[in-house]
Amino acid sequence: MSETGDMGLVVVGAAGRMGQTLIRAIHSIPGARVAGAVERPGSPHLGKDAGELAGIGTINVPIADDPLPAFAKADGVLDFTAPGASVEFAGYAAQARIVHVIGTTGCSADDDAKITAAARHATIVKSGNMSLGVNLLAVLVEQAARALDVQDFDIEILEMHHRHKVDAPSGTALLLGEAAAKGREIALNDNSVRVRDGHTGVRKPGTIGFASLRGGSVVGEHSVILAGTGERITLAHQAEDRAIFARGAVKAALWGRGKKPGLYSMRDVLGLG
Ligand code: NAD
Repeated sequence: MSETGDMGLVVVGAAGRMGQTLIRAIHSIPGARVAGAVERPGSPHLGKDAGELAGIGTINVPIADDPLPAFAKADGVLDFTAPGASVEFAGYAAQARIVHVIGTTGCSADDDAKITAAARHATIVKSGNMSLGVNLLAVLVEQAARALDVQDFDIEILEMHHRHKVDAPSGTALLLGEAAAKGREIALNDNSVRVRDGHTGVRKPGTIGFASLRGGSVVGEHSVILAGTGERITLAHQAEDRAIFARGAVKAALWGRGKKPGLYSMRDVLGLG
């Protein structure tokens, strides 16, 4: 813990698109400071200063490949990496009893079970989207799905992301799908159509469909379409800058400080229940 009282945060995946954005966000937010920066073994960025790489000048935090010394002297970890890495970091964060904010998407049910187990000892905030806008959108989607009759309105979720994204549908699309399913009081897993190809037959009533587009540099676009006969409602969000996710992640860490162990979501952090 810092002598100044600021929350010391380690960024894992510090050289990634989100990692660099997180370094800049921590640097600009009062009450938080960069306490460490970690990358995967073999990364060409090991040894570089995390601030220099993120474009804010030297902050005297070299990027290292061993998370343990960094976690030992931190109050929290911000993690936008890959599913296997996040599961491993959840174990270390639980041992160190520090807040773990997980933005990584594409986790399997098995990964999520391991993260839930780690949350018995650690305060974990995990969300497929850390922005205020998308979490508010999820509340609106849940309300709309609850209000509209399942026989009259079909729900489809469309997302587009940059060409480097490796998982589909996006974590945000799934988060919005969960919100729609909650509004309808159904389980998303049993009622979702994640891919359509070839002779699919007619649309099965009550399902929630997903479509994913990939290309260029799109930060993240999501539309939830509620399609009825003769009318259509579209609830949408456009992310224009990754900083919205990074600021949300720092906010989650500050919120989680001193909270009892458990698995929390951004809706908890933002008070959107
Ligand atoms: P990226 O590939 O640019 O960055 C990931 C970084 O993690 C890389 O630098 C990689 O080397 C590093 N990494 C991988 N394994 C590691 C390990 N074991 N130890 C340390 N570092 C490791 O990807 P990105 O665009 O920054 O996205 C990262 C993740 O965050 C993805 O899952 C993405 O979907 C997700 N994301 C979530 C939100 C949200 O709000 N929840 C927003 C944007 C992106």
